[in-house]
Amino acid sequence: MESTEPKQTDSKKQKGDKVLIAGPCSAESREQIIKTARALAATGHISYFRAGAWKPRTSPGCFEGYGIKALEWLSEARDETGLKVCTEVGSVKHAELALSYGIDMLWIGARTVSNPFLVQEIADTLSGTGVSVMVKNPMAPDLDLWIGSIERIRKAGITDVSAIHRGFSYWTRSVFRNQPWWHIPSELKNRMPDINVICDPSHIAGRSELVPMLARRGLDMGMDGLMIEVHPSPGEALSDKSQQLTVPAFIGLIDEMFNSMCDRSNNVLEELRAEVDTMDNLLIWALTNRMKLAGEIAGVKSSTEMQLLQPGRWEKVLEKAMSLARDSGLRPAFIQKLFDDIHNESLSVQKTAARI
Ligand code: PEP
Ligand code: MN
Repeated sequence: MESTEPKQTDSKKQKGDKVLIAGPCSAESREQIIKTARALAATGHISYFRAGAWKPRTSPGCFEGYGIKALEWLSEARDETGLKVCTEVGSVKHAELALSYGIDMLWIGARTVSNPFLVQEIADTLSGTGVSVMVKNPMAPDLDLWIGSIERIRKAGITDVSAIHRGFSYWTRSVFRNQPWWHIPSELKNRMPDINVICDPSHIAGRSELVPMLARRGLDMGMDGLMIEVHPSPGEALSDKSQQLTVPAFIGLIDEMFNSMCDRSNNVLEELRAEVDTMDNLLIWALTNRMKLAGEIAGVKSSTEMQLLQPGRWEKVLEKAMSLARDSGLRPAFIQKLFDDIHNESLSVQKTAARI
């Protein structure tokens, strides 16, 4: 394996100190890589060109990346355009191959980061190479696991290490593919102030029309850069087709974000409302399931000839809710009223279920 001298990565050089990384989700052909890299290099805005050589997929049999061929296309794109290039590594073999092709920066994906053994093995492989590394957040909102992976890479002697905020997988329906939970990358910045945190709005959004809003919000939240998926024809992409921007859309976004003096308050409002919609989905989910349980409880009560209203139990439920509310800073009068309504509804559901 070729080991390279530590490079001057100088990633903070464009657009007023922001790192801009762009390129397709996956490397799909030589033509796609060269064409996209040329178009992005011509903007003069980007710090790194990205493309996945290996794609972690949920189910077997999906397109899993072109591997070594993709590395060849990436190094050709690098030689031709002068852009630095980066790709994802998910195993020691990937890391060795990427190093042998002189890939400038590697990222560890959200799935791999959740496996400390694997991260350690990759860190050991990269030790002493001077390659730059980005660590994506794990799928679960686990800040300590994210920090632990960053530390493993740093302890291996890698000095240019950044974090990527790509959102967190969550079980509820949401407008976003992954929940942004902005407080987690903000806390990472507090705990590791010398680490660049780059926002990946493409994987948070899951839909191209939401990418600009999240990209602006990422910068408003003080993130140090953006990684955005850009494809020459997103509709034909072999992975993540709904979230990739066209080259003109990406250029438009970058110009608008960095060159115009537009008022950002509408954007913040739009993004906050999208987060509120997600919370409303959660409330409806919780209420639906709470009422379903009330129906089942009615069945148990009527089979044992128990009264529907059990004042002792209700007092305990309310007491617990009030104590949680106090700890969370919610007004007690509001929670009392809300829980009275929920309890009344639950009793009517139980009465209806008991009659059936
Ligand atoms: C990607 O960047 O294309 C990717 C697979 O990312 P993640 O690990 O965030 O899903
Ligand atoms: Mn992707």
